[in-house]
Amino acid sequence: MAKTFKNFIAGKWVAPATGKYFDNRNPADTRDLIGRFPLSGAADVKRAVASASRAFDGWRRTPAPARGDILRRVGDLLVERKAEISNAMTREMGKVLAETGGDVQEAIDVAYYAASEGRRLFGHTVPSELRNKWAMTIRRPIGVAGLITPFNFPMAIPTWKMFPALLCGNTIVLKPSEDVPHTSTLLVEVLLEAGLPAEVIQLVHGGREVGKALVEHPDVPLISFTGSTATGSFIGETCGRLHKRVSLEMGGKNAMIVMDDADLELALDGVLWGAFGTTGQRCTATSRLLVHRKVHDRFVRMIADRAQDLKLGDGRKDGTEVGPLIHEAARDKVERYVQIGLEEGAELVLGGKRGTGERLKRGWFYKPTIFTGVKPGMRIEQEEIFGPVLSVVRVRSLDEAIRVNNGVAYGLSSSLYTRNVQGAFRVMEELDNGITYVNAPTIGAEAHLPFGGIKATGNGHREVGWQGYDFFSETKVVYVDYSGKLQRAQIDTYAGAPD
Ligand code: NAD
Repeated sequence: MAKTFKNFIAGKWVAPATGKYFDNRNPADTRDLIGRFPLSGAADVKRAVASASRAFDGWRRTPAPARGDILRRVGDLLVERKAEISNAMTREMGKVLAETGGDVQEAIDVAYYAASEGRRLFGHTVPSELRNKWAMTIRRPIGVAGLITPFNFPMAIPTWKMFPALLCGNTIVLKPSEDVPHTSTLLVEVLLEAGLPAEVIQLVHGGREVGKALVEHPDVPLISFTGSTATGSFIGETCGRLHKRVSLEMGGKNAMIVMDDADLELALDGVLWGAFGTTGQRCTATSRLLVHRKVHDRFVRMIADRAQDLKLGDGRKDGTEVGPLIHEAARDKVERYVQIGLEEGAELVLGGKRGTGERLKRGWFYKPTIFTGVKPGMRIEQEEIFGPVLSVVRVRSLDEAIRVNNGVAYGLSSSLYTRNVQGAFRVMEELDNGITYVNAPTIGAEAHLPFGGIKATGNGHREVGWQGYDFFSETKVVYVDYSGKLQRAQIDTYAGAPD
């Protein structure tokens, strides 16, 4: 009998007001039922927001270094439980153990960074233009933070939002993806064990109804969302109307450029990892490969030779290199796009099929797939597929590659393989993305650097690194005039000078 899980609201694990639940199954073997999770509704969100609002005053007055100390303990506990949580995450989400281990490690890195930020959280002190006057900025927490997260990084992405939000003194309502509710339950357990005051965090499981209720709730002044561009656009519209601070991190269509002077063996390792790691379900996945015509045929052969041997299977089993897609709808979507690619005239050189056989028949497996002959403007070149599908475009020059890279709606990450230093420096300036890698694939962000995209990928904020703290705190300017007389900025500024 599968376990029934609960929400965490007002300091207690509680059943949803709706009385409804959904099944959470292993995508590698759908017979494996992980548990039943609350299918919550607006009433649960209302209770959670009321609780987080109550906790705000006490938490914002807790000194930032003390808030940081709790997050350091969170990091320590995650280190202790890393293997167990990675295992649970692979069972729930499908990616291989090495990757879920990386996902937990990212949470650990973000926790330790946040802990140290508790002893910085700098404002600025700047000279006033007037004599005997002090000018500075301080940071204030904002209130209840509504955090809405996707399935592909079940621990890293919630912590990118939670830890900076908490460190800055906000309280939280987390609405995790309905595809990975177990990992977020484990994460909340860790936060409570580390000593986070109970009402500072709320966990409300469920689908879009929960997310929508959180976005629309008048007592939630900030929303941080990561997910698809379609969902993010909807959330952005609502937040604009309600004057909420909103951070949107959305889809991608990331390109790797391989020039004729590149180290092709290095680029080969990069493209296999970038395109087929996490079964292509990364916002930063390498879904387009722009290859110089002089090395195109050779490089495509090299990729196909290696990709056909990638071992599909349960990510918890030794030797597995590619796990399943997250659910049936995700696999249907990949199949639809493969059909679209064929109709558009692209050539299928590898894959284009489900994973079959005894080991794979109960999961949402799909074989690594490569299309060549892809032309800029085709849908498989423009739209996010979110699966193990690589669209290869032949280019004649770096100029053309830059144009093709920039010719999509999205702007998350890009990469260039070359030995030419001029080309490498040029693309740093000219590729329209939030992140550019040189001689590395389009994936691999580090937790102490800002993360985010431009155009249809993001709305200008950045997660983690030092910039993540800007989103979760309000800058307040403070002037202290100790001259004992009225001094008018811009009017009296230089009137008396020099003495
Ligand atoms: P999704 O948009 O389907 O869901 C994301 C979250 O939004 C889930 O928790 C979902 O329940 C919730 N949601 C759905 N409809 C909502 C609504 N109307 N109002 C409020 N919340 C709602 O995304 P997904 O399938 O879980 O994740 C995959 C997508 O996430 C891809 O597009 C990927 O590129 C993107 N992603 C982006 C980044 C980034 O940093 N840019 C990182 C990871 C994933």
